[in-house]
Amino acid sequence: MTKYIFVIGGVMSGVGKGVATASLGKILASRGYNVSLVKIDPYLNVDAGTMNPVEHGEVFVTEDGLETDQDLGNYERFLDRNMHACNSMTTGSVFKSVIERERDLKYEGKCVETIPHVTEEVQKRIKKAASETGADFLLVEIGGTVGEYQNMLFLEAARLTRLLHPQDTLFILVSYLPIPKMVGEMKTKPTQHAARTLNSAGIQPDFIIARSEVPLDEPRKKKIAIFCNVAPDDVISAPDITSIYEIPVNFEKDRIGNKILKKFRMKPKKAAGLTGWNRLVRKIRTVSKPVKIGIIGKYFNSGNFVIKDAYLSVIEATKHAAWHWDRKPEIQWLDSEIYEKNPRALKALSKYDGIIVPGGFGDRGVEGKIKAIGYVRKYKIPFLGLCYGMQLATIEFARNVCGLKNAHTTEVNKNTRHPVIDIMEEQKQNLEKSNYGASMRLGAYRCVLTADTLAQEAYGKKEVWERHRHRYELNNNYRQILESRGLVVSGVNPEKNLIEIIEIKNHPFFVGSQFHPEFLSRPLRPHPLFRDFVKASIRK
Ligand code: GLN
Repeated sequence: MTKYIFVIGGVMSGVGKGVATASLGKILASRGYNVSLVKIDPYLNVDAGTMNPVEHGEVFVTEDGLETDQDLGNYERFLDRNMHACNSMTTGSVFKSVIERERDLKYEGKCVETIPHVTEEVQKRIKKAASETGADFLLVEIGGTVGEYQNMLFLEAARLTRLLHPQDTLFILVSYLPIPKMVGEMKTKPTQHAARTLNSAGIQPDFIIARSEVPLDEPRKKKIAIFCNVAPDDVISAPDITSIYEIPVNFEKDRIGNKILKKFRMKPKKAAGLTGWNRLVRKIRTVSKPVKIGIIGKYFNSGNFVIKDAYLSVIEATKHAAWHWDRKPEIQWLDSEIYEKNPRALKALSKYDGIIVPGGFGDRGVEGKIKAIGYVRKYKIPFLGLCYGMQLATIEFARNVCGLKNAHTTEVNKNTRHPVIDIMEEQKQNLEKSNYGASMRLGAYRCVLTADTLAQEAYGKKEVWERHRHRYELNNNYRQILESRGLVVSGVNPEKNLIEIIEIKNHPFFVGSQFHPEFLSRPLRPHPLFRDFVKASIRK
């Protein structure tokens, strides 16, 4: 029987519920159990694919092609295990199934209602995730914060799960304890309210994870215990830390793994434990020599604040590679539009050991990125282009090395004379019919590598599978002229004859991939392309 652990947020969002869930999963897996996770996103979008990255953060792509929440990326990185479509659901996807079934007359003439029909669908999906993954423990993270109208339905499904499996279900509230400056003291009241709100949904938390700037002290632990009706031992201190990878280690200081097993009357199995992970955490804390990487993007600004969520996996992959080489990653966000307004700003790129141009869509900031790529090509600054980054590197090369004036992608200029990047044949119809949802080339595809290239050297094999999310491709009609001027095609998808990796010679490291290698990087196993890119950056 699978054990279900529901993780619910209190007080406010953005306190690290996702990494807390991933960390709990990591701890249980380190004790020899098969662990999987489900992320519930309470929005009406069927998946994350149609949302603006500034609004939603990164769209993470699973190997089976689901466009989903960035938390699934954290789950994969922490557990070193691939997630699939069954590991995610949104309100939109749940309602869609229910409505489709209703249209197919599958409810036998009944009036279809939120309760029980929608909650049944949620429960069914949770069960399905448990059976498809064979999980001993299934952690279910309910997005948002308790008290929101949006996630009531999922709390109800969680409550019903406990009702059906009282011995096999636990609830964990991840809450936040503010320390207001003018008060100078950590306050427990918002957490008390969160626990009460959860109670009014019929749920009593078994554990409370107390997120705060600093560790929880005894008086506050007791206060939370009394007012929220949990044992003081089950209130877990979760102070801010420098690296998210430290969280499992920190949780274990409160022995949460044993406590969870005890509540389920289970024993730890013989297992690898957290040795390798602990070693990494020590390294993260001690590395001091920096490697400076600039990421040129455009999804940074939200009102008066800068958010980096849109490039989460790129950032994490860069960190994994830096730690691999015993370096401290220093990552700087560079707004591509600056290079359009002020070409002199390009000079500042020389300050960086390496430059990444990640994925993107549309025309904003594109010319700035192309200018920056031209600069790093010319001045031999190590470069890694990801998806749009690879496409724009091709455009820069076509314009400035092959002399194809105004070469472009048809994504930005439909009538360009030199469409070196063009829409994939099977994508044309999607755009004509405005069929945008889940219709890109998504998920893992095969890529055969060319001998004697940086790419093959990095991977150390002849064939790889990598995850994609795009509609446009390098136009094969231009392959010959690009190659004749020194662009190397180092990876191709043989099924569709799509160019997947490009690089150039006589440069310390200049590689672009049509796919997203950042999705496959893991803390203890950096992605080969990121690893070698950072290596070249260190050499610079
Ligand atoms: N906009 C480009 C395309 O659709 C690149 C997509 C991306 O960077 N993920 O092909």
